[in-house]
Amino acid sequence: AIKLKDVSKSYQRGDQILPVLTHIDIEVEQGDFLALMGPSGSGKSTLLNLIAGIDRPSGGHVLVQGVDISTLGEGDLARWRAANVGFIFQFYNLMPVLTALENVELPLMLTNLSRSQRRAHAEAALKMVNLSDRVEHYPNELSGGQQQRVAIARALVSDPTIIVADEPTGDLDRQSAEDVLELLQQLNEQLGKTIIMVTHDQRAADAARAIMHLDKGELSKLDRQKPVPKKENAESA
Ligand code: ATP
Ligand code: MG
Repeated sequence: AIKLKDVSKSYQRGDQILPVLTHIDIEVEQGDFLALMGPSGSGKSTLLNLIAGIDRPSGGHVLVQGVDISTLGEGDLARWRAANVGFIFQFYNLMPVLTALENVELPLMLTNLSRSQRRAHAEAALKMVNLSDRVEHYPNELSGGQQQRVAIARALVSDPTIIVADEPTGDLDRQSAEDVLELLQQLNEQLGKTIIMVTHDQRAADAARAIMHLDKGELSKLDRQKPVPKKENAESA
């Protein structure tokens, strides 16, 4: 599970302190698919970055599977992230000079896997997102929807337990958005990935198991639409 305990976050610019999140308490069960909505500037990306260990809270604790990631040193936090979290962004963030396959291999560069193992993992991830026929294409030779699917393959390739997605359908047409949402549901239902997705789009939010709204630094009650499937070997903590 992911637990945020009394988390707050302020940004400091010069002598100005801007509070963004105050006293956030949430628990996301393993296997859940949570949509996070809220007005622009309400702190959704900030919250996602805290959960993913990209940024640190100003106060409180972020516990993931019992590990308090808010207390990890830089190196440990980076290693924790690489092993546990996959990221998907609105504008895909693919490397333009690398092929689809090379982009997907990238997160594996920090592992001990051999070149051929990395390749095999990346090919399997691209197969999963139905892009086996585009492995040698460069990002600018792919449609937006295809680029986002490459990004999903990249998020998957290291087999993380958590996937965070910041407006993954924000730049896509309706059909591509539906494809991406279907893929995320598949990762959640079939592979048991815990997914936290920020979105402005109600249709995207409806694909999740539960919805939360963030406004003025505070979170709404969880609005649950689908239960979290029970796992036989429930994790501790
Ligand atoms: P959007 O829907 O537009 O993406 P958001 O809900 O994701 O918005 P955040 O990006 O989390 O909002 O930003 C929340 C607030 O924190 C904003 O007012 C923003 O200006 C401020 N902010 C975000 N990052 C920083 C930073 N690194 N330094 C200072 N202020 C920041
Ligand atoms: Mg944002």
